[in-house]
Amino acid sequence: MPILAEYIWIDGADPTPGVRSKTKVLPDSVPVSTSIDDVTTIDMSLFPEWGADGSSTSQAEGRDSDIILKPVAACRDPFRPGGYLVMTEVFNADGTPNRTNYRAGLRAVLEAGAAKADAWFGFEQEYTFFHFNGGPLGFPINGYPGPQGPYYCGVGAMNIAGREIYEAFMANSIAAGLLVAGFNWEVMPGQAEFQVGAADGLTTSDHLWLARWILKRTAEPKVEVSFDPKPAQGDWNGAGMHTNFSTAAMRSDGGFKAIEEACVLIGERRQDHLDEYGDNYQARLTGHHETCSWREFKWGVADRTASIRVPRSVADTGKGYLEDRRPNANADPYRVAARLLKTVCKLG
Ligand code: ADP
Ligand code: MN
Ligand code: MN
Ligand code: MN
Repeated sequence: MPILAEYIWIDGADPTPGVRSKTKVLPDSVPVSTSIDDVTTIDMSLFPEWGADGSSTSQAEGRDSDIILKPVAACRDPFRPGGYLVMTEVFNADGTPNRTNYRAGLRAVLEAGAAKADAWFGFEQEYTFFHFNGGPLGFPINGYPGPQGPYYCGVGAMNIAGREIYEAFMANSIAAGLLVAGFNWEVMPGQAEFQVGAADGLTTSDHLWLARWILKRTAEPKVEVSFDPKPAQGDWNGAGMHTNFSTAAMRSDGGFKAIEEACVLIGERRQDHLDEYGDNYQARLTGHHETCSWREFKWGVADRTASIRVPRSVADTGKGYLEDRRPNANADPYRVAARLLKTVCKLG
């Protein structure tokens, strides 16, 4: 039986890119994915480069439309036993990275010296289920549910909408072998979160994009998944992608000092960071709903109204990580990771 590999790439949609994929039939000689224990060790030479029509994804002009898909990470395909999901980077015909290829930018930052910091990332991806007719799942067709309060980590038909999709996504992301760390229902009805990491920036970001594809694919028959940072207007929480970040120095004894220094450096580059944190951050970072206004910067221990929160346990043990709460649910993790590394490693 031939093995099927689903090649996944990030498109050129503006201002928020989406994910695309197409299926490649691989030779019988490729081992089935179910024989692999740790997907981070998959031999990427099993997957040849491939192409796509960049003029249909806002990544090339019609008269010179070929883009190159270069495999960079893979996991098991939970929808096709034995198959693979293959994350790719997009290149132009002349071999240069496509302008939409922010993974190449992250690689460049690591090669410029950031790799020495041995940084780990943990992303908290929030998302919202949407009815095909427009509203968030859990919102009545012409109106609003009761105010926020019972929905976060809730249970019961009055509090939770879409449990079966949430559970199926959980099972699929585990079966895929992704580095997922946890799952929870969120503050707004129809809204939930999963966490990826902690691991190095490239791996964690690759797995987040693979997880986004799996989530959309899992929900496909029933609902749409939105990464809109402010999916409902009014007194409803937005959707973020809190980014937990540490360097080796922060994780070792006395690392609190390195965390403090990083917070100061990041604060000095407030707008440079926001520019990489996803479209329409202004709608979400209002200073309400567990956010700090995008116009301000502050950091604090256990402070969920700050731009950066340092967890209480980190302050108590004097080492660990920081949480940048500003990235939007629609942010590109490659861009967020590259910006944090550039700032904290003083690379520009
Ligand atoms: P919150 O309390 O903000 O909801 P979560 O439990 O949802 O926190 O997410 C915390 C994330 O931080 C997890 O993805 C976890 O893997 C990640 N994390 C833990 N330790 C580190 C670390 N040293 N460096 C980077 N990320 C880390
Ligand atoms: Mn969380
Ligand atoms: Mn959350
Ligand atoms: Mn968080």
